[in-house]
Amino acid sequence: MATAPLLPDTDVRADFPGLGGDWAYLDTAATAQKPQAVIDAIARAYGPDYATVHRGVYARSADMTFAFEAARETVARFLGAASAQEIVFVRGATEGLNLVAQSWGDRLEAGDRILISALEHHSNIVPWQLLAQRKGIILDVAPLTEDGRIDEARLIAMIGPRTRLVSIAQVSNVLGSMADVPRIAAAAHGAGALLMVDGCQSAPHMAVDVQALGADFFVFSGHKLYGPTGIGVLWARAEILESMPPWQGGGAMIETVRFEGSTFAPPPQRFEAGTPHIAGAIGLAAAVDYVMSIGMDRIAAHEAMLVDAARTALGRINSVRLLGPEDAAGILSFVIDGVHPHDIGTILDEAGVAIRAGHHCCQPLMQLLDVPATARASFGIYNNMRDVERLAAGIERVTRIFGGAA
Ligand code: PMP
Repeated sequence: MATAPLLPDTDVRADFPGLGGDWAYLDTAATAQKPQAVIDAIARAYGPDYATVHRGVYARSADMTFAFEAARETVARFLGAASAQEIVFVRGATEGLNLVAQSWGDRLEAGDRILISALEHHSNIVPWQLLAQRKGIILDVAPLTEDGRIDEARLIAMIGPRTRLVSIAQVSNVLGSMADVPRIAAAAHGAGALLMVDGCQSAPHMAVDVQALGADFFVFSGHKLYGPTGIGVLWARAEILESMPPWQGGGAMIETVRFEGSTFAPPPQRFEAGTPHIAGAIGLAAAVDYVMSIGMDRIAAHEAMLVDAARTALGRINSVRLLGPEDAAGILSFVIDGVHPHDIGTILDEAGVAIRAGHHCCQPLMQLLDVPATARASFGIYNNMRDVERLAAGIERVTRIFGGAA
């Protein structure tokens, strides 16, 4: 197999100091390595540019406020949002989901229903379970197809008159399966329900346009998009955000405060109590600029090529069972009968190949697949065919070591 670089005239890997040496990093679905442009933007934000936002009357603070709000505009453009006011900065996808469950969810009544799928991450399950305990709502779970996609026909059939929200991952973090979001959006809206999209594994790997998707809410985490940890995004349609009560109180989210009562700022400030993660937002904008300069369609094509090559290479090894559909986005989960995924991960690590082994915060999906855990290789813009070759060679070694068992 030849090395197939993403950009023929540029070595993308050279942009990532975290990839130093000869390391095959195949755990981008957990968190992505950072390009130097992001590290530099964060260093500038904490260094020569540092000051607080929104309050200072001095020039440095005004400049920082400008940069922070410019980051919001960059994210809005990236997602195809109608305006930057639809972008709420949060700690990550988990916080975005909890924000919606607590704030928007407050209007739900006993007997209302929320529909998710069987492949969801714990962060798209547990906030709804907490809401169910608080409000007496019912959580419905749509099944999967044989090849590990959301069974969209059955999911759509499960949308009923009391369904208020459908909440699904656009791309599964275990199987890489992609949902037909516009189809699900149309069905949800037809029944008067809203659609939440968990975009953790889609936003870093394909072009996303929240309006074309027909979504009402969309969340993603900065650290999976080559940006910093501790920053993420909740996007929601303006009129929905307008209708939502605050979820945390404090500075920056108010209009006026009196001991008799307070009034609240319009979105997005209403949902951003306290001093925000200023450097995080600026670092995230640098990450968005970085991926957009490469092009999301190009990134998607590159990663599809790598997953395809990995499926072919591992598919040749008899004892390997590949999970998920063939057209998975950037992610390949597999098991080797008789070998625990942790052992696979450890042996690969000795060969300089980093994969993830575990339940990937998807315990219900593991139960459904009837495995305790999977081994998962996930790809990013810096991976190449050499990484695939090393993965395949490492797995060959695993099967040799485990001999009979495998
Ligand atoms: N949803 C999906 C599909 C994910 O892959 C992840 C991260 N593994 C999350 C939600 C949660 O993201 P975070 O931990 O960054 O909040």
